[in-house]
Amino acid sequence: MTAVSDWKLKNYLKDGLREMGFCGVGFASPGLVDEETRSHCLEWLHLGYHGSMGWLRQSMPVRLDVRKFYPEVKTVVSLAFPWGRPEGKGEFLSGYAWLTDYHRVLEQKLKDFRSLLKRKFPEIRLRTTVDTSPVLEKYWAVQAGLGWMGKNTLLVTPEYGSWVFLATLLINVPLTPDLKKEDRCGRCRLCLEACPTGALRKAYLLNATRCLAYLTVEHNQPLTAEEKTLLQGAVFGCDRCQVVCPFNQPSEKETCHLKQRQPANTALLKELATINHEEFQRRFGQTPVIRIGWEKFRAQVLAALNYYQEQGMR
Ligand code: SF4
Ligand code: SF4
Repeated sequence: MTAVSDWKLKNYLKDGLREMGFCGVGFASPGLVDEETRSHCLEWLHLGYHGSMGWLRQSMPVRLDVRKFYPEVKTVVSLAFPWGRPEGKGEFLSGYAWLTDYHRVLEQKLKDFRSLLKRKFPEIRLRTTVDTSPVLEKYWAVQAGLGWMGKNTLLVTPEYGSWVFLATLLINVPLTPDLKKEDRCGRCRLCLEACPTGALRKAYLLNATRCLAYLTVEHNQPLTAEEKTLLQGAVFGCDRCQVVCPFNQPSEKETCHLKQRQPANTALLKELATINHEEFQRRFGQTPVIRIGWEKFRAQVLAALNYYQEQGMR
């Protein structure tokens, strides 16, 4: 393979990916994850905190060593894409539920970028991932200096907080890794205090089986009576441990506003309770909400409506 200079390729990747809208581009050396992360992942599985996401258990050996996923990899290029803050349509739907499904958006961007890269450096081979591959994207984002692991177990970037989607390029060329950023959570515990279900068992430890993002999106079995009581009006996802994070506050004025729980818009909920399957497809077909299907969506909307009415909200 013709030698590609380190700085030339790094600059090409940084400039090209930033031009496509990625706010963070960082580089890390692939390999087995560090001992602390390995123990944490194995303990997490042992505790059963992955719930019904059995694929996480099955793919863990690959997740723990990215070279098992792509043996040719010599550099992990971690990417962050900003998605902004929720616009306050009601806390029952996570802010990203209103956006075009980020998997599609980022996969298309990476496909386009891949074509440009192959034209410029035909000798490069690569694989791309957006969330669904057995790659520990948050771990690699930390290693590549995009941010640090927050106590809410999400990547926190200095510029965009945790309002970022992650993606990865695995390339067959060794490049100088970037430096890690320091953990800036300090003594803050706002995310742990804001979690309504106790899913954040302690800093950096998420019991997914109690997390609203899991129960309303990932969990593919009918909810038990106990799980239903945890929902507390959630329909799709949950932003509460992000909304309170100081790194997600762009200005003092908005900080004050965002720290309030967003009022549930029961008028919108009532309307959503009436939509049929076709309307659900029309309205949410391009968004991540489509993943859960109309039946689960409708059941969760009705449960939320019931919850808010019991709270006295009309
Ligand atoms: S997403 Fe919601 S339920 Fe899950 S850890 Fe964060 S605050 Fe808790
Ligand atoms: S809310 Fe505080 S503890 Fe939680 S991730 Fe943000 S800075 Fe860290």
